[in-house]
Amino acid sequence: MTLFDFTVSQSDRAKMKNQTPLVVWFTGLSGSGKSTIANRLEEKLHQAGKHTFILDGDNVRHGLNKDLGFSESDRVENIRRVAEVSKLLFDAGLIVIVTLISPFRADRNLARNLFKKGEFFEVFVDTPLDVAESRDPKGLYKKARTGEIKNFTGISSPYEAPDAPDFRILTTECSPDVASSQILSRFFKI
Ligand code: ADP
Repeated sequence: MTLFDFTVSQSDRAKMKNQTPLVVWFTGLSGSGKSTIANRLEEKLHQAGKHTFILDGDNVRHGLNKDLGFSESDRVENIRRVAEVSKLLFDAGLIVIVTLISPFRADRNLARNLFKKGEFFEVFVDTPLDVAESRDPKGLYKKARTGEIKNFTGISSPYEAPDAPDFRILTTECSPDVASSQILSRFFKI
């Protein structure tokens, strides 16, 4: 299939925003701290005058992906769609922050493979299961333990930790503020 060659390019859009677009993809257990750290990161980028967007796993399940459940094939499709949307937002010239459990290595690689080297960074929010479960910010672990929620990552569905993430955050050792500052200096030189 031949694609239409539009005149205004990704780099034109990025130049107008005076920034280098990239994707920061947070992966980790539910309750690990992805949304909390991403939120702090976006606040700081915003203060620095950067144009950003957060694609949050829970939020997209209310709209774009509301037809999907938590079976293995639906999880794969959930991630594929989020990856494709992150690519569109990247092409629009935005700094894209994705917060998605994304438990399977193969799916995260599928997302990474949409991008060139230096455009996509995988951040592993590394929180032990017992800590994430004790936080249980949305009460989901409790429901997973009683069986009210099936296929729950870490309890009744596997989480494949990244072997070589671009960045690893140990949330038992640093606050969301410190973690977001580390990401900022590492990937944005801010
Ligand atoms: P996720 O998006 O990974 O499901 P959330 O960010 O929604 O996780 O929830 C993480 C919870 O853990 C929040 O209630 C947050 O305040 C708490 N928390 C405690 N310590 C940290 C930390 N160091 N980093 C991130 N979150 C933390």
